[in-house]
Amino acid sequence: MDSVGVAAAAPDAGPGPAWQSKCPWGAPSTTSISCSLADVMSEQLAKELQLEEENAAFPEVVAAAEGPFITGENIDTSSDLMLAQMLQMEFDREYDAQLRREEKKINGDSKVSISFENYRKVHPYDSDSSEDEVDWQDTRHDPYRADKPTTTPRRGFIGKGKDITTKHDEVVCGRKNTARMENFAPEFQVGDGIGMDLKLSNQVFNALKQHAYSEERRSARLHEKKEHSTAEKAVDPKTRLLLYKMVNSGVLETITGCISTGKESVVFHAYGGNATEDKVIPPECAIKVFKTTLNEFKNRDKYIKDDYRFKDRFSKLNPRKIIRMWAEKEMHNLTRMQNAGIPCPEVVILKKHVLVMSFIGQDQVPAPKLKDVTLSSEDMKKAYYQILNMMQQLYRECNLVHADLSEYNMLWHDGKVWLIDVSQSVEPTHPHGLEFLFRDCRNVSQFFQKGGVAEALNERELFNAVSGLNITADNEVDFQAEIEALEKMNEDHVQNHGKKLSAFSSDGDPPIYDE
Ligand code: ADP
Ligand code: MN
Repeated sequence: MDSVGVAAAAPDAGPGPAWQSKCPWGAPSTTSISCSLADVMSEQLAKELQLEEENAAFPEVVAAAEGPFITGENIDTSSDLMLAQMLQMEFDREYDAQLRREEKKINGDSKVSISFENYRKVHPYDSDSSEDEVDWQDTRHDPYRADKPTTTPRRGFIGKGKDITTKHDEVVCGRKNTARMENFAPEFQVGDGIGMDLKLSNQVFNALKQHAYSEERRSARLHEKKEHSTAEKAVDPKTRLLLYKMVNSGVLETITGCISTGKESVVFHAYGGNATEDKVIPPECAIKVFKTTLNEFKNRDKYIKDDYRFKDRFSKLNPRKIIRMWAEKEMHNLTRMQNAGIPCPEVVILKKHVLVMSFIGQDQVPAPKLKDVTLSSEDMKKAYYQILNMMQQLYRECNLVHADLSEYNMLWHDGKVWLIDVSQSVEPTHPHGLEFLFRDCRNVSQFFQKGGVAEALNERELFNAVSGLNITADNEVDFQAEIEALEKMNEDHVQNHGKKLSAFSSDGDPPIYDE
């Protein structure tokens, strides 16, 4: 079953009240059916699991022509269709089984047998031809793979004269088929058919085998998904539920697809929903889902563990909550930046490990990263001075060091640079804050010096310009040593006085923003 076909086959919702298009179960018939919240949730979860399979992978980049993958409209009608098809298949299978039983009853031990073959139901998945089905069969074990059903076998018969039995003999075939059900995955329920003298027609056997095969893959996939959580491109069922809730509550209109899958997060594009209460939601949103795969985050402990804002909480938290803290951290940092007027995404909503913010870009196309865009030398220079300015603002007004600043986390949009990806940003007095700042400065200096901006300060000059410190070392090694000495001094101050110095520089502006 291909998801594209299913999605395309979804019936047109047609004009209707707004709530209808938002209803997760498609357009309801007439009366409202009362059921518990728990039911709704679990059904929704089941549906999500199914959808997850259907959209085995998200598109890497959103193409405008592609349909959205989560909307209030398409999901559930397609699920209904799927459900109906599955029920139909189930019915057909039972019907066929009944036919076979009647066939057997009528034929008994009689030499002349009649067949009900023509009355069999045609299953949605085997309606094409039985020849297609041989493709998926195990070629090593299946003696029938090359043969089409034919009345005159090319070879292979037993017996003599009128007792001749070819390998296409229905009874022999049927028994063989029944016996071969044993090769299905152990969790596939074949009932007690194996022990009985049950004769499965090739077609029925094919159908069963295909079903067993796809069931096996399905359960393997589901299992894998559960374990790896939001690993890979997909999101886990819990995250999906969060996303659906956002769509259903009207915060988001549609989630169109995936913009980026990084090591630590997956970013989706969405259209903003109608304003809820008095909150105005941007027309286009970016949804950053922090991955709940834990090992990815282990190496980032240092950013948060030593951040005194989170220090007390850190030790008490389980890993899942630590991931949420990343999202929370990004939200706080973005808010600080927003307040200082630094171009950056605006926070829309935070739910657990899912952060919704305004989208930097237009019509589903994200603004390019600085590393991917070719700027005129004039724009390059402009961008440089803007960044210098933003780094100073970030340090002085927001009391933050980006800590992952590079051409990868700066977007070029509307003729200016926008800063993103601030979940790891720390305050300058973080035990490694100044080292992080120095690294940021190195990235920025190198990028703009390579990019031909003659005015670009070197990394040490930039560091001093941003921090207001006056480290005079003229080589990197000494410079770094001085930075570390400063950090140590501050830590000692914490040890002795129980609190940090307000700032490193004596003459610099004191941090304005404090939470
Ligand atoms: P990661 O930790 O995976 O690097 P980022 O926050 O840098 O996470 O997001 C990854 C990518 O997603 C970015 O490089 C950018 O292309 C895109 N992106 C993230 N946030 C936004 C946004 N608000 N608007 C547009 N694109 C975004
Ligand atoms: Mn990034």
